Amino acid sequence: MAKPKRNWIQEERRKTLGDWVAFCLRCGFTLRFFEESEAELPAACPQCEGLLRHRCPACSAPIASAFAVECEECDAQLRPAELFGSPIRKPGR
Ligand SMILES: [Zn+2]
Ligand SMILES: [Zn+2]
Repeated sequence: MAKPKRNWIQEERRKTLGDWVAFCLRCGFTLRFFEESEAELPAACPQCEGLLRHRCPACSAPIASAFAVECEECDAQLRPAELFGSPIRKPGR
């Protein structure tokens, strides 16, 4: 099964907000950035200091969607799927 191509709305967003997305594995904070400003990305989440992921851990492909769970290139998991639709924060931590 081929994945659907990205639509033009997503392409437009890429042009105005940034090419790629980084997200926090802990709190879900997302950040868009342009390829040329990758070096300026914070190493940790500005909100919770969790790990900010901006590339696939398996193949180093950049992440194009703030809602990506799996890498578009190699299907490696980019973050836990259960983050979606449920609060990530656990009481006491
Ligand atoms: Zn965070
Ligand atoms: Zn990958």
